[in-house]
Amino acid sequence: MALTRFPGFIDIHVHLRDPGQTHKEDFRTGTRAALAGGFTFLCDMPNNTTPTFTPEALQEKLRLAKEKAVCDIGFHYGTDGTNLSTFTAAWSNPHVFGLKIYCNQTTGGYQIADPAVIDACIAAWDSHKPILVHAEGEMLALCIERAKKYGRRLHVCHVSRASEVAMIRKAKESGMSVSAGVTPHHLFLDTGVMKPGLSGIEDKKVLLDALIDGTIDLVESDHAPHTREEKDRSTPSYGVPGLETTVGLLLKAAKEHGWKTVRIVDWLYTQPKEFFQIPDQPDTFVELDPDAPYIVGANGYQTKSGWSPFDGWELYGQVRHVIYRGREVMKEGVLTI
Ligand SMILES: [Zn+2]
Repeated sequence: MALTRFPGFIDIHVHLRDPGQTHKEDFRTGTRAALAGGFTFLCDMPNNTTPTFTPEALQEKLRLAKEKAVCDIGFHYGTDGTNLSTFTAAWSNPHVFGLKIYCNQTTGGYQIADPAVIDACIAAWDSHKPILVHAEGEMLALCIERAKKYGRRLHVCHVSRASEVAMIRKAKESGMSVSAGVTPHHLFLDTGVMKPGLSGIEDKKVLLDALIDGTIDLVESDHAPHTREEKDRSTPSYGVPGLETTVGLLLKAAKEHGWKTVRIVDWLYTQPKEFFQIPDQPDTFVELDPDAPYIVGANGYQTKSGWSPFDGWELYGQVRHVIYRGREVMKEGVLTI
């Protein structure tokens, strides 16, 4: 076995459910899942039961994360269109890395459907920190247009359709500051309930090609832990856990498609670091063998939700060692923290 050293990976899109739904995940279990999956820096989304729409809610998350998190974690602020006066305080906070706007249906019910309100939010976020959007179809067209109008940096979360790739490509060609992410489940999974819905075979091929040609800049897990019971209901919760499988899925795809592993470093480190201005993490790296196969779930899961949609899959490169800020937090595949 030849271990290869990689930088600690960065995931700019996770839902750690703390506070509010800590029966699914909390800052401790979520960041342990991150380390197990090779990530040492996460950005947590704002759609908690008490959403991160106020400086107070942000402070509470910071307090809880300081107490429980075992890797670095930043936050995206959120909006329902009524908290614009708090934006300056939010973007001035060094722990905030962007503003998330939900333009389509998702967990939590924080969707803004009125184009005038979306316009006002994009206008009010007068910061170099990106605006992240969950925007499908014509809502994406609207967000691109308004971000361009106000000179904002836009990040398009979890691209899932060929038509959206085309819009992003066009926006980039126009010189706009726009980045895009894709999730492993939209690239590799065929069944399950997600928002956005899973991509068809044609969409999947376009997503892969867009990742390779750079139209899609990075991979985001959209780690969305729900209990197995919540997923098995007749109206299942949206999303799946992803922190522990993202790297292995990409290494498997790298083998199948002949990608160089340096591309994976681009998607999970270099590009997210640059777009979201993620600070350096001194003395931080992970080690794994990209050629070593392993079975997902064979040694259980670190996420409190305790399952994966990829359970039983053969992936590659299970993380063996993690050094986080000079401290060995995983040794021989076992977390020591
Ligand atoms: Zn999400």
